[in-house]
Amino acid sequence: MANSVPVIGIPATMFVEAGGWWPGMMRAAVTQAYTDAVQAAGGAPIFLPIAQPGEIALQLRLVDGLLVPGGPDVSPQCYGEEPSAGLGEFFYDMDVHQLALIRGARALGKPILGICRGIQLLNVAFGGTLIQDLAHASGDLIQHTQKGLRHAPSHAVDLQEGSRLARIFNRPRLMVNSFHHQALKQVASCFSVTGKARDGIVEGMEADGSFMIGVQWHPEGMVPQAPEMNLIFQALVQACVEGS
Ligand code: MN
Repeated sequence: MANSVPVIGIPATMFVEAGGWWPGMMRAAVTQAYTDAVQAAGGAPIFLPIAQPGEIALQLRLVDGLLVPGGPDVSPQCYGEEPSAGLGEFFYDMDVHQLALIRGARALGKPILGICRGIQLLNVAFGGTLIQDLAHASGDLIQHTQKGLRHAPSHAVDLQEGSRLARIFNRPRLMVNSFHHQALKQVASCFSVTGKARDGIVEGMEADGSFMIGVQWHPEGMVPQAPEMNLIFQALVQACVEGS
């Protein structure tokens, strides 16, 4: 670990300001709940704005680990597909930046945690594909875009026995919130699926070697009411301390 306190880089999420003082303005932001969760876990979050390819290595040198946050859809061109009906807002430049950060961090053995869009981008970074819109997907699916409050548990996730995720939470099953209309389709070969919703949708995955875990729910949004959800941020920070 390069820093005395683990520095967790959180890539910027781009969005177009809908209202406020500057409607239509392109913005880059980090949701406060992520920085709160990282700080509560003993890490120091920093913001990584969209960078030119030449600056990616510099950004990676500054951080001990990476937290890839939730956000808009992943551009389907990133996994070689055409846009289908139901695809939401996407920002290709942001995808390119975050994919480069993920691949670079992995090559350096720096721990990575992907949340919601983050698990999807991790999958795409290593050759996986996505369901562009669950509403257009076949099968008997449960509701993954809950109408309940942000922190409210909505559906079950079964964790694979002995997996890193099961060890982190020290239980076989979690109740999680759910705010995604995209999901993993083909899972990249470097990942094992270690968390599943009852309809088969992938909710957790992990790779061998250095810490690289993705979850489809939003633990940062549950932390205030369910402190155990901070365990996954503690695991990320601890992996940075251990240098794996
Ligand atoms: Mn879900």
